[in-house]
Amino acid sequence: MATRRVLVTGGAGFIGAHLCRALLERGDEVLAVDNFYSGARSNVADLLGHPRFELQRHDVTFPLYVETDEIYHLACPASPIFYQRDPVQTTKTSVVGSINMLGLAKRVKAKVLLSSTSEVYGDPTVHPQEESYWGNVNPIGTRSCYDEGKRCAETLFFDYRRQHDLPIKVARIFNTYGPGMRPDDGRVVSNFIMQALRGEALTVYGTGEQTRSFCFVSDLVDGLIRLMDSPHEVTGPINLGNPREFTMLEIAERIIALVGSSSTIDFLTLPSDDPRQRRPVIDKARDVLGWVPTVEFDEGMTHTVEYFRTT
Ligand code: NAD
Ligand code: UDP
Ligand code: UDP
Repeated sequence: MATRRVLVTGGAGFIGAHLCRALLERGDEVLAVDNFYSGARSNVADLLGHPRFELQRHDVTFPLYVETDEIYHLACPASPIFYQRDPVQTTKTSVVGSINMLGLAKRVKAKVLLSSTSEVYGDPTVHPQEESYWGNVNPIGTRSCYDEGKRCAETLFFDYRRQHDLPIKVARIFNTYGPGMRPDDGRVVSNFIMQALRGEALTVYGTGEQTRSFCFVSDLVDGLIRLMDSPHEVTGPINLGNPREFTMLEIAERIIALVGSSSTIDFLTLPSDDPRQRRPVIDKARDVLGWVPTVEFDEGMTHTVEYFRTT
């Protein structure tokens, strides 16, 4: 088989950089495009000299004309402080960016995968979340640019499928963590680890009883690649996440213990529309893709702490 040409939008981001590395390892030719809004060239510094890797500065809200066999469409800021900094651009990135990537996929007959999110379930009234759940999303709140942007992107993916029989794949990614996260991205894992390492109080928002389920990045990347490699009839949406659920208070206590820190805990105001609970049902990923996460929380978190300690 000829070398597969793969486009990764958001390729200089946290998940994108891990994905590029995994694709290169299996022999693909990788073109990463990124506007460096929340990602950075330094995330893929180790790949820049690789003969099958290319990095291009490009904003996906503008058309992109390249030749490719597969598109992983990851471009979009993912942490609340980044996606809320320029919310109009966030919606544009999800909506216009998806139209452009779908138009590109249609022209070159490429498979195209969307990195959607568990945020499409909003503040879920059904727990845990199966793919059939339609969600409980505020259309006009501060998180809406991200949530509704991704929901519209999903709509576009399924309409291109219905109208043009495009080979689409939609992954609904739950909270993902690991080495390569920005220390300043404001997400709970990076905040707590940095605070614990500095001996500062950990900032728990609200009562800390809200829950999330955290997937280690190598597991997630494996799931994305399996989904892309799945047959034409598999479109998703498919949940990708680790079903082990924690309260934020438990996360704070575990991180303090893993770091061996003497940090205390401060309780701050809960941001608006913060989902109260989140846990994926992953039966579909297991049955259709043969995928289950393999990295336990303490193991993944130890790697992540090590990364932050040495960066
Ligand atoms: P990230 O912010 O590290 O990566 C996103 C990348 O997209 C960045 O490099 C950024 O510069 C780039 N980007 C943003 N807007 C762009 C634009 N208009 N044109 C080109 N590039 C642009 O975030 P991440 O955690 O790596 O997330 C990657 C994808 O996975 C996102 O689509 C996100 O919505 C999705 N996702 C992530 C998580 C998570 O927990 N990390 C959970 C659910 C979904
Ligand atoms: N597009 C792109 N690269 C391509 C082909 C299309 O960026 O190789 C963009 C193009 O600018 C268009 C969008 O994708 O706005 C949607 O393309 P499509 O062909 O579906 O729609 P149309 O061009 O008919 O509006
Ligand atoms: N959170 C927290 N302290 C922080 C950062 C986040 O308690 O310093 C909480 C946040 O309110 C949310 C959860 O941790 O309930 C996960 O937040 P994150 O931004 O990591 O992800 P998301 O809310 O997008 O799932």
